[in-house]
Amino acid sequence: MTEKEFRKVYPLIAGWIKQTLAEHASAARPVASLGFSRLPHYYDAQLLASSMVVFVPRVPVPPLSAMGLDQFRDFEQMDAGGTTYLNTYFVRADQSDSESLHFHELVHVIQWRLLGPEKFLALYADALERFGYRKSPLERMAFRLQKRFEREAQPFSVEAACQSLMRAMTSHGDGTTPLDGP
Ligand SMILES: [Zn+2]
Repeated sequence: MTEKEFRKVYPLIAGWIKQTLAEHASAARPVASLGFSRLPHYYDAQLLASSMVVFVPRVPVPPLSAMGLDQFRDFEQMDAGGTTYLNTYFVRADQSDSESLHFHELVHVIQWRLLGPEKFLALYADALERFGYRKSPLERMAFRLQKRFEREAQPFSVEAACQSLMRAMTSHGDGTTPLDGP
């Protein structure tokens, strides 16, 4: 995707996110209220209180192909267990008890905050197109930390881990921006 293409669709995606969050606002509840026992050892109390979760039969995905982005059709139809927009994430109802999935989506909440919405979406879309869902850097970061959460009993600060991984990711100074095409 070229920068020009991204500039064109960004307002549409941002508008869709705003509308989607507004539509689900009354069903959203703070993650802290779910009472998971391990998450408080990995995330600050403030993050758990300010991050919102919505349980849905199917997680909402922007109508990317209708916006002219045909290359994301597979992603659009993925039916993921969870997805995050800003400080709110959606979890498919059959996965609502999966603490590990909540852990994964909270990594994205931190990424959205550290990058800001425009940069998050630009990086995410560019990587999705070039590497595919599972290998895009923002997903790899989330899966890597999630695996650590699942395998190790020793708690760690996800915020600190994200900040250092993000620094490493964005300091790949090869003169190109993530929006430059291949
Ligand atoms: Zn993810």
